[in-house]
Amino acid sequence: MKRIFIQLVFVVSLLLSSIATASNFPTEEPVGGKPFGYSTTNIGDGLYVFRWWVYRNIFLVTDEGVIVTDPMNPRVAKQLLGEIRKITDKPIKYVIYSHNHHDHISGGKVFKDQGATFIGHKNVLKELGDHPSYATPLPDITFEDEYTVQLGGRTIELKYFGPNHGDSLVVMRLPKEKILFVVDIVTPRRVAFRSMPDFWPDEWIRSLKEIEQMDIDYVISAHGPETQPAIDLASAVKDQRVYLEDLMTAVKKAMDSGTHSPDALRKTVKLPKYENWQYYKEWLPMNIERIWAYYHMGW
Ligand SMILES: [Zn+2]
Repeated sequence: MKRIFIQLVFVVSLLLSSIATASNFPTEEPVGGKPFGYSTTNIGDGLYVFRWWVYRNIFLVTDEGVIVTDPMNPRVAKQLLGEIRKITDKPIKYVIYSHNHHDHISGGKVFKDQGATFIGHKNVLKELGDHPSYATPLPDITFEDEYTVQLGGRTIELKYFGPNHGDSLVVMRLPKEKILFVVDIVTPRRVAFRSMPDFWPDEWIRSLKEIEQMDIDYVISAHGPETQPAIDLASAVKDQRVYLEDLMTAVKKAMDSGTHSPDALRKTVKLPKYENWQYYKEWLPMNIERIWAYYHMGW
């Protein structure tokens, strides 16, 4: 029954994603002439996707309180709290960090002030020690490979797959719902982000292969504009992995045939299969240069 409900929500979400409860707020940061907007989409059964600009997180409202993920930044975290308060006055119990990068996990103070307990992989603590962020509370609970958060009869499982994008990234699985929230390493129908900062191509592919073995039906990705659905089929994980494999194969083939300059590779390597993916024209050359560096320098 729950599965049918979630499937229905998925279809409705695909159809209505552009008219989710969106609201814009004034900002000095225009994108293409438009202000950054935010929206909250109800996936069902207390699970919500909050989107700001091209960033997303999830939050889960349970009978005993709320579990929040990546607060993004101080200004947006306040907007997020406002959105949660439109839905429930239950306490914010947990904030879960997906990984160490400041663009996803800054701004949690507003939840710390409410007494929330912060959870993250143990390497988040190390990375925030090396690269401090005044706006990012340190995790109170850290773990090595897996950790399970339980609240009000609901469960979120956290799992670390080793280095892939940085070395602290965890994915978050709702086991009953078979939904995976995944940050940065799966973005449906989009080529890899720019020059793939802090991405390790071979470890990324390895991690995706392992994630493909997880018991999931759906993924919620932490990136996507408001025109993209809030929730996607789990096959997006495989699609991302195959894209990376195709990219690496194409660059390697060109290098093996004698093209060694990154400038020449950027111009000549094409992946027409992905022409319809977001940022194909703009970011593919940068993806290519990152893979050139991988083969040229060895990592
Ligand atoms: Zn990141």
